[in-house]
Amino acid sequence: MFDVLNKINIVLVESSHPGNIGAAARAMKTMGLNRLSLVNPVKYPCAEATARASGADDVLATARVFESLDQALAESSFVIGTSARERRLQWPNLGPDAAAMQLLQHAVVSEVALVFGREKYGLTNEELARCQALVTIDANPAYSSLNLASAVQIMTYELRRQILRAEGVVTETAEAKESLATAAELEGMYGHLEQTLSEIGVIKTEQPKAMLMRRLRRLFNRTQLSGTEVNILRGILSAAQGRKRDRSK
Ligand code: SAH
Repeated sequence: MFDVLNKINIVLVESSHPGNIGAAARAMKTMGLNRLSLVNPVKYPCAEATARASGADDVLATARVFESLDQALAESSFVIGTSARERRLQWPNLGPDAAAMQLLQHAVVSEVALVFGREKYGLTNEELARCQALVTIDANPAYSSLNLASAVQIMTYELRRQILRAEGVVTETAEAKESLATAAELEGMYGHLEQTLSEIGVIKTEQPKAMLMRRLRRLFNRTQLSGTEVNILRGILSAAQGRKRDRSK
């Protein structure tokens, strides 16, 4: 299910702090990504990068180093760039969830890349022009620039989360289709409930009965009862009726 993450390249452009490269590698590995590309890193390889990778040194060891962004993107057919600020350049700007979803959809069939900029001034407009879309992580407008590795962590988490969400939706609907209670089953349960409530003395007169049953229907309508759940509830009702009848013998 997470194999698709192997098709997503994380590209860091001209990172100046080796510690950030190590921390980005660690962020990637915790979320199940392993393809790191470095474009002209200022200081690399470096002991500080390895130290900050803390166990994710395999991601660093297989990282590829390129002399230009074009070379790093050569195999990718879909590219998203990250930017802390709104650019004057009018470019499709996505939130992290939509960006992650698009990257995953393309990664099913080809290599894709997510590009991160320099600590000091991010990506240039020429570099952003290589990207099909931009993603901005929503942040405090007065202080919106995240640490590079923190931005990598949020985006890689979002990629993982979108996979889980997609899987969850699929199983949820398959399950729901299989076992949702039918209208007839629900009516049977409401009849049984009303009868039991009268028998055990919760309902005493006609007027409150209609009101109470409407409220109870509304309560159950908010959940989506399955056939099995209706059977469990009816089992409880029968047990309550049985006790009442035993006691009144
Ligand atoms: N001053 C730079 C910020 C550099 S921070 C700028 O305005 O872009 C280093 C890198 O971290 C950025 O290039 C980007 O890749 C990533 N980053 C930081 N904050 C981000 C945010 N809010 N949304 C998306 N990416 C962000």
